[in-house]
Amino acid sequence: MHFHIMTLFPEMVLDGLHTSIIGRAEEKGYISIEAVNIRDYTLDRHKKVDDYTYGGGAGMLMQAQPVYDCWKALDEKITRRKKNEDSRKTRVIYVTPQGEVFNQNKAAELSGEEDLIFLCGHYEGIDERVLEEIVTDSISIGDYVLTGGELAAMVMIDAISRLVPGVLNNGESAQTESHADGLLEYPQYSRPEVWHERKVPEVLLSGHHANIAKWRLEQSLERTRQRRPDLYEAYITAHPPQPLKNRRK
Ligand code: SAM
Repeated sequence: MHFHIMTLFPEMVLDGLHTSIIGRAEEKGYISIEAVNIRDYTLDRHKKVDDYTYGGGAGMLMQAQPVYDCWKALDEKITRRKKNEDSRKTRVIYVTPQGEVFNQNKAAELSGEEDLIFLCGHYEGIDERVLEEIVTDSISIGDYVLTGGELAAMVMIDAISRLVPGVLNNGESAQTESHADGLLEYPQYSRPEVWHERKVPEVLLSGHHANIAKWRLEQSLERTRQRRPDLYEAYITAHPPQPLKNRRK
């Protein structure tokens, strides 16, 4: 999967994403991450990419021209690489506090794309006209305002990459993690068996796989009920407890 990030701060996203699991996934070729500097595309001789907003108001706005020309060059490059194999337009995600809020389902949906373009705004944002022309998805990472889109793009790319086959060593871990099935993950423990007089739950030392699975599901349900009643309600609605007579013996 190929991630392309349109930004005024390429080094920020590349430094942040070239580490740990995501960095290794890139080295091994499961994903690629490219950051393109929007400023390289401005026609302004002073390399300016922003200007005052019409109608007044505080702050500067990123102008349409550099953003459009940057996207056009990137999109043409991607289309040339695809060579008719896939005629669909590459999705362009504008990271914005005005978008739908990102979650694990969205990450799973986006992980099925071969290429994704992320557009990071700065200052007061971006001229609406270019957004109307090139953006296919507007996505937020939460109901608060960041200085720029770079951190938001990094958050989304990290979450999406984990779902690309091969990126996690153990294919299972993405499936059992919080939000994968609508629940929060059960508590986990590692060595030693006793730490600060706290003992690892007996069932986890038993080697009895069915009992361990049952305990983990119960813990997941209880933890979700306590910490995220909204998720718990949704899960219980989708998975109503079975009447006793229908339960397998
Ligand atoms: N004036 C804009 C508004 O009120 O909607 C906010 C602009 S913000 C200071 C600058 C840039 O940061 C945005 O263009 C966007 O790319 C990014 N950004 C800020 N908050 C974000 C969030 N919660 N999720 C995703 N991107 C965000």
